[in-house]
Amino acid sequence: MTTAPPLVPYAEALERYEPAIGLETHVELGTVTKLFCGCPAQFGGEPNTHVCPVCLGLPGSLPVPSRAAIEFTIRIGLALNCSIAEWCRFARKNYFYPDMPKDFQISQYDEPLCTDGWLDVMVDEGDAEPQHVRVGIERVHLEEDTGKSMHVGGATGRIHGADYSLVDYNRAGIPLVEIVTKPITTAGAFAPAVARTYVAELREVVRSLGVSDVRMEEGSLRCDVNTSLAPRGSGVLGTRTETKNVNSLRSVERAVRSEIERQAAVLDAGGTVALETRHFHEDTGITTSGRSKEEAEDYRYFPEPDLVPLAPPREWVEQIRRSLPELPSVRRERLQAEWQLSDADMAALRNADAFDLVAGTVAAGASPAGARKWWLGELSRRANETGAELAGLAITPDQVARVAELVSSGALNDQLARQVIDGVLAGEGTPDEVVAARGLAVVSDDSALTAAVDEAITANPDVADKIRSGKVAAAGVLVGAVMKATRGQADAGKVRQLILEKLT
Ligand SMILES: [Zn+2]
Repeated sequence: MTTAPPLVPYAEALERYEPAIGLETHVELGTVTKLFCGCPAQFGGEPNTHVCPVCLGLPGSLPVPSRAAIEFTIRIGLALNCSIAEWCRFARKNYFYPDMPKDFQISQYDEPLCTDGWLDVMVDEGDAEPQHVRVGIERVHLEEDTGKSMHVGGATGRIHGADYSLVDYNRAGIPLVEIVTKPITTAGAFAPAVARTYVAELREVVRSLGVSDVRMEEGSLRCDVNTSLAPRGSGVLGTRTETKNVNSLRSVERAVRSEIERQAAVLDAGGTVALETRHFHEDTGITTSGRSKEEAEDYRYFPEPDLVPLAPPREWVEQIRRSLPELPSVRRERLQAEWQLSDADMAALRNADAFDLVAGTVAAGASPAGARKWWLGELSRRANETGAELAGLAITPDQVARVAELVSSGALNDQLARQVIDGVLAGEGTPDEVVAARGLAVVSDDSALTAAVDEAITANPDVADKIRSGKVAAAGVLVGAVMKATRGQADAGKVRQLILEKLT
């Protein structure tokens, strides 16, 4: 066994090599049934309960394609600006693996349903100007998912070192759409960011179409990342590696970066990059070798003899096109204009994963400024403290809108609003319930405040003297003392006014 040469630092690798990337994204469709049978296409379930003779590949069973799955695939193709084939076929991809009970997978090969589209993404990387990148889409095709094997007894959960393996066919036959980009060769140092941003945008597009829940953590969106390097200026494509099943946006970015650093070291040492699949390890941030990559001929593709060709009528395709929703990029542009935000403001919202939350809060009646203030301020801080996702906090956009409304009506000040948010996050109920239960309300009643103001003046005679001698700015100290004494419930403006009336 030879040891791999050490990684080349990223910036140095880019001085000598140009990266090319390509992404193959699998999206599990949210149809009611599987692709070729009536079994439920649901995630999970007791192992081997969502199965029938068709998806188990029992002799004599025949597949019948799901109209919904074909429609969903066309929706994705149209949203990605693809041409929809007038006539195409499913193909048999032959291979033996226990998670594929038929010993072949029904997929599409040289006749995909959707071809030649594009997706525009805006890449925002730190200090650099946001860059618009058009990612070419090579193809979008439909296939059936495989079952899942589970390797028991080893330390890693992988087959090596396992005592035995189990297989669950619940997933076998769930419709899976594969979206393949053209090679992206012009991204340079931005290649890792382009990869991440593309997958993020694709996820939003597919989610907006209502065809999948696109959850990377549950595997309904899975991503294989191809990376290659070529000497600068050579104009050729280097040998690619395929990093399989990268399961978070951050990992997509890290996997590309780490492959660039590794391949540069191999090439620097005079070696050749092997055409192979690789695994990305979340803990170390590096990839390790998987298996050598099969070429298409290894699969012995041929047209699926159990299915008639697929010829979606043009009027149906046009009907689907007309039913497409407003796409995320269009919606973002519209809301940015409505909310009067700069590009930097938008980038801040998106980087915090707060865009949809703010949109929901505005839709529930809050002002755009109020909604942004709470999500990017207090709530982002809470999420960071607990390591949670912003969207995972136990407060809804409707509830945040209600808090903002209570503040703008003067019923709460910011300090009290933070206490309301505390209560909602702690599961004490809706904002109104927390206000009632904790007795939170701004006190602007003169007699109650006057007493507190008098106390503050008595307790801080030197500060009072300063104000009397004209240093009005010192009033802040007394306002603070009153706010503290009233546990934040005083109307700060009113307190200040009372202090100045008494001392000036
Ligand atoms: Zn079935």
